Amino acid sequence: MTPREDRGSGMNSSEVSAADTTDPALDLLQSVFGYETFRGLQREVIEAALAGRDALVLMPTGAGKSLCYQIPALVRPGTGLVISPLIALMQDQVTALRELGIRAEYLNSTLDGWTQQDIVDRLRRGEVDLLYVAPERLLTDRGRAELSDVPLSLIAIDEAHCVSQWGHDFRVDYLGLHALRELFPGIPRMALTATADVRSREEIAERLALAEPARFVASFDRPEIRYRVAAKTDARRQLEAFLRTHEHEAGIVYCMSRKKVEQTAETLAASGRTALPYHAGLPAEVRARNQERFLREDGVIMVATIAFGMGIDKPDVRFVVHLDLPKSMEGFYQETGRAGRDGLAAETLLLYGLQDVVRIRQMVDGSESDEDRKRVERAKLDALLGWCELTDCRRVALLAYFGETLPAPCGNCDVCLEPPETWDATVPAQKLISCVLRTEQRFGGGHVIDVLLGRDTEKVSQHRHDRLSTFGIGAELDEKGWRSVLRQLVVRGYLTADPDRFNALRPTGRARPLLKGAETLHLRRDPRPARASRRERGGGIEAALPPADVALFDALRACRRRLADEAGVPPYVVFHDATLLDMARRRPTTLVAMLEVSGVGDAKLDKYGDDFLNVILGAEYPEAEAHGAAEREEP
Ligand code: ADP
Ligand code: ZN
Repeated sequence: MTPREDRGSGMNSSEVSAADTTDPALDLLQSVFGYETFRGLQREVIEAALAGRDALVLMPTGAGKSLCYQIPALVRPGTGLVISPLIALMQDQVTALRELGIRAEYLNSTLDGWTQQDIVDRLRRGEVDLLYVAPERLLTDRGRAELSDVPLSLIAIDEAHCVSQWGHDFRVDYLGLHALRELFPGIPRMALTATADVRSREEIAERLALAEPARFVASFDRPEIRYRVAAKTDARRQLEAFLRTHEHEAGIVYCMSRKKVEQTAETLAASGRTALPYHAGLPAEVRARNQERFLREDGVIMVATIAFGMGIDKPDVRFVVHLDLPKSMEGFYQETGRAGRDGLAAETLLLYGLQDVVRIRQMVDGSESDEDRKRVERAKLDALLGWCELTDCRRVALLAYFGETLPAPCGNCDVCLEPPETWDATVPAQKLISCVLRTEQRFGGGHVIDVLLGRDTEKVSQHRHDRLSTFGIGAELDEKGWRSVLRQLVVRGYLTADPDRFNALRPTGRARPLLKGAETLHLRRDPRPARASRRERGGGIEAALPPADVALFDALRACRRRLADEAGVPPYVVFHDATLLDMARRRPTTLVAMLEVSGVGDAKLDKYGDDFLNVILGAEYPEAEAHGAAEREEP
């Protein structure tokens, strides 16, 4: 079955599909994808492509970019060519499309020669709706030859920010894609990206040589994502407390180093969770296997460096944790953006401490980059640090960083939910800075705090710091309190730590007015750990359901699991969580009613409708279990 050929005939004439032949795009949306209406800018983007225009599409992850090119590719005659950077993920994308009855293929080196030839033959015969290829193949002589006689409907360039040398995902092969303009004259090209990095965005249209592209910029807000930031006090405990609110859910835990990735994965595995490591130092097979399990199994936690994530379009990632500070707001936004693609609630947690700040500053200062680049990186880090210490809505500030205005506080970040207390820290800050000066700017935070607290340590007696006027003047705060002040003074640029001298602290020019009493300083009070670990229903998607529907939802998931295993596909290829949630709410009892469920189109109704219907009937009428539901469900 192909959607294009079916318009106005066969499948559409059945009473279950409300075909509207005057609007082929909407018709496809409803009958093939199973969605009622277009979302956001989808309709406009599709219309531009149908009119044959080039387009630049900037939409956040989860906004529904794929439909923007899939639908016009199906409506226009010819094959839709999709350029996608990651070979490893093409297969899943294609499988998901085939589940919808779309004739999708990919061409890459993982296929044997016969299969590749067969696909090329079918391309020439016009029997392929969508073809996925990586840029490096497309631009070889072989790749050009393969596509030379194939009529194309459009060309979609996914992850288009990979063409930007300033961005974090630069891929040299993308630079060659401007050649598409000459290779396929007159075929509309659509560049799509979820990057929030304004500089990368600006380069895309130019480098890909788009011809007067229609530009579509969606809001980059991800209202379903809850942002949380906490000072790192006891990372292991903080992570454990967070994960307790996300049991059995899939998520990503980012760490800065490979070693920490492995240790964290082991710790989590020891606590009985399915946690897998991923970093560039692991053998390719291990990485592939772990990624595969993350995609296919329910509730896997991926512990990874930032080497993991691009192109992963797993819709049901429910949380993202950063155990170390990302390098920039752009990085943070992109990494956290992998949560909640299905639009259901998701939660992120960023833990950061003074060590992180010092280490990243050190990395930037010591890198090989030229001074201009370093200045940019320092500014990016400072922006992120400032964001961490915010005392008002995080989402407002995050979007403002990307040039967007949110009219009101979001109500879904830690600051909105639990407004932090601030306090007048002027005097403690003066004491701390004086103490740094008295100890001659030769010591790190640990010792300075010992002096403030009047502790009788070896170092103190060795340097006779018990004779200083600042010895023991800090009784008003405990060690943690002082660490919090110190961290915030470094983050706000009153103090710097010199990595070449064991992180010895040094006041900056900013400290002067503060010391002289010409400026007051209000700092955030770090929440107590008890509060941070308070149990509450976080991003758990079942929270979205009334208790009565939870059992049914679980049964639907079990059914999906079984069908996915049988077909050898990830569960979300069968149905997304959002679809199962909608099904649990609506409880359709006929196939026609089943079509009302968001995400159920004709092909999936044929394939899976009966199975899920049985689960619903079995759940509603326990006595009906004997008629089939029982033999399917594992207890
Ligand atoms: P992106 O590529 O922008 O990250 P996707 O194309 O993967 O996003 O879509 C995100 C999710 O939204 C998918 O689960 C998709 O099926 C769903 N979706 C897309 N468009 C619609 C729509 N018009 N109505 C309902 N769900 C949609
Ligand atoms: Zn907020």
